[in-house]
Amino acid sequence: MAKILTVLYPDPVDGQPKSYSRDDIPKLDHYPGGQTLPTPKKIDFKPGELLGSVSGELGLRKFLEDQGHTFIVTSDKDGPNSVFEKELPDADIVISQPFWPAYLTEERLKKAKKLKLAITAGIGSDHVDLDAAMKNGVTVAEVTYSNSISVAEHVVMMILSLVRNYLPSYEWVKKGGWNIADCVERSYDLEGMNVGTVGAGRIGLAVLRRLKPFDVKLHYTDRHRLPKEVEKELGLIYHKDVESLVKVCDVVTINAPLHSETEHLFDAKMISKMKHGAYLINTARAKIVDRDAVVKALESGQLAGYAGDVWFPQPAPKDHPWRKMPHHGMTPHISGTSLSAQARYAAGTREILENYFAGKPIRTEYLIVDKGKLAGTGAHSYSGGDATKGVDEPIKYRKSA
Ligand code: NDP
Repeated sequence: MAKILTVLYPDPVDGQPKSYSRDDIPKLDHYPGGQTLPTPKKIDFKPGELLGSVSGELGLRKFLEDQGHTFIVTSDKDGPNSVFEKELPDADIVISQPFWPAYLTEERLKKAKKLKLAITAGIGSDHVDLDAAMKNGVTVAEVTYSNSISVAEHVVMMILSLVRNYLPSYEWVKKGGWNIADCVERSYDLEGMNVGTVGAGRIGLAVLRRLKPFDVKLHYTDRHRLPKEVEKELGLIYHKDVESLVKVCDVVTINAPLHSETEHLFDAKMISKMKHGAYLINTARAKIVDRDAVVKALESGQLAGYAGDVWFPQPAPKDHPWRKMPHHGMTPHISGTSLSAQARYAAGTREILENYFAGKPIRTEYLIVDKGKLAGTGAHSYSGGDATKGVDEPIKYRKSA
């Protein structure tokens, strides 16, 4: 029997919801491009419930315990005294979400002698040291596409909210004001602007498609060029590198994975090449940008705004400079964990587990690392590497909190 160690974010401050604002969520037939949604044999939750928190348990407890497995769920994940680190040495499977990542560093992977499978309930497995996973024979899998459209919607929301100066205007209303001039002194129309994405995979392309009706000029750069008919349909301008794209774009959105090629891609030098007063939206991974360079660029006006939902480390320390920098529209890491997304990635996690326990292959599109090398989606989008370095900040934060 297996021991499954699962790290999920803490419950809401008032406990698990007793009711929900909506009665149901739309039932989708397939993802854009045709990939099917998760197909577990059964689910033990109602789609639309809060599943990503500790008490939500991804709806897995009955399924796992009925088969005699040990299922441990915790949000206590950082530092040597955490429940996660204590339970890790004899865990067979680890499940974690990027929103509240259980960092699987090389050191931790060495201690996890029995670990065979690390599942990302969501997308983005950079919290796992992929090189060490390959070395230690750990399979890494994620629920590809489960929350891509959720993130694309968040990106569009953030672009509009920065360009139109939504959040400061909302704050004036809450303060009892009617300060129209204060609200609009940084407010523009998106129409006619040049908007570019770094990475035009599932999320990047979905962002481009959603922005098309805003009558903007659309740009992209990617390691592989999109099919000609897609470029034509959306009127896309392709750039062979990031520098060429950022020079002409008023809005830049980052939609590439964090790996050795993209780590700190947006450093002070790259940001200085952007148009003065550009907006930068990053819902991909925080380490793709240089934390302090972003703060300085907002202070100097080189960037007119920065928004996203990804931080490093996560949870972000209380004194993280992005909390207080000017003209930002940051949220905690939530874009990919709407209730709609949770239903899909909880079902996808169950599908992976059902196959794993039945000795059946995990869908290729879910694989990141398998049999000691990058596999499936991982072989296409990643390039190995260790993005989990420097994860001790949450421990410092816990001590000071
Ligand atoms: P995809 O793999 O579908 O797309 C990523 C694209 O980025 C691919 O087309 C890839 O190129 C491209 N790419 C990789 N490296 C580079 C590079 N150096 N320069 C330019 N382009 C590059 O992934 P998704 O769209 O599904 O997700 C993207 C990322 O978003 C995830 O890796 C994850 O980190 C993040 N994410 C965030 C979430 C959130 O909640 N905030 C939720 C889900 C994902 P190619 O494949 O052509 O080689």
